Amino acid sequence: MLILMNLNSPRQDIQNVKDKIISFNCTPHEIPGASKLAIGITGPSEHLIKEEFQLLSSVEEVIRVTKKYKLVSRQMKNDDTIINVNETIIGGNELTIIAGPCAIESREQIFDIAGKLKEMGVNFLRAGAYKPRSSPYAFQGLKEKGLEYLCDVKREIGINIVTEVLDQSTISAVAEVADIIQLGARNMQNYALLEQVGKTQKPVLLKRGMSATIEELLLSAEYIVSQQNYNVILCERGIRTFETATRNTLDLNAVPVIKKNSHLPIFVDPSHGIGIWDKVPAMAMAAIAAGADGLIIEVHTNPEKALSDGLQTLNLTTFRELIQKLQELAPVVNKKLNLSKHE
Ligand code: PEP
Ligand code: MN
Repeated sequence: MLILMNLNSPRQDIQNVKDKIISFNCTPHEIPGASKLAIGITGPSEHLIKEEFQLLSSVEEVIRVTKKYKLVSRQMKNDDTIINVNETIIGGNELTIIAGPCAIESREQIFDIAGKLKEMGVNFLRAGAYKPRSSPYAFQGLKEKGLEYLCDVKREIGINIVTEVLDQSTISAVAEVADIIQLGARNMQNYALLEQVGKTQKPVLLKRGMSATIEELLLSAEYIVSQQNYNVILCERGIRTFETATRNTLDLNAVPVIKKNSHLPIFVDPSHGIGIWDKVPAMAMAAIAAGADGLIIEVHTNPEKALSDGLQTLNLTTFRELIQKLQELAPVVNKKLNLSKHE
């Protein structure tokens, strides 16, 4: 259920509404950024009596939210969620690019690519220190050493860091360096991890599970937002289908469907989505045309030598060409490519 109140409601009226919600063993959530003051309700809300809320002063409307997910739904909050990461805006009219290698491989490698991306105006560096690999014999990432390099890159180059957390034991170490914590496809339904990551109050990039429905993705986001952490970016990264010509099937249907049903920003990862580097630019452009708020793209100075995901990774020349095309596409969809400086 959702209670809409006058924007200038006296504090006491707001408190009365919250107290009544708590008396029903439910949790009130003041929802930021709405044109009216909205108080979302989670918990066993089937016992709530709508009329009891309608009688309270400053309450304008009481709405039943029909979707399974509540706080992330557009019914609950009509305005798009805008996320401010160290003064860089994500969502709204901004088109954000997160780029970098699949994994941190060495100090030199990450400094080199981060410096080049920064020169191109990219505000967010992606790179995994902990890598979830299908084979236990594959490169698992540099782990703590990788986080240490990321920390140095952030300090010396001045770029925001997006890096993945794999389990609860490393949340605080990852949260210390990450400006956005990445939750990967394999962990999308690790609910205990979602809750703990939500508690850090850091922005989260939540990737869609490879066999998850859009509704399941939104319900996973709800776990994070119910920890009062509204800074969630959803990410479509391709799903498993019968098709074998590509690594995954990038489900761009998810973009307009999520835009309609949720206020959270939606990004697309065309690298994992298609898995073949020379087709990544086409899918990146398609994602933006479909209405995505940003892209996360794998870029490496030498993809042939990459220790993971080299086949789907762009080199700097191809990435630069893609950025140029995106510059042209952005105004067509009423967006602005959010680069700090463009060559
Ligand atoms: C990645 O971004 O490198 C990654 C492992 O992604 P996903 O969780 O989507 O497979
Ligand atoms: Mn990867």
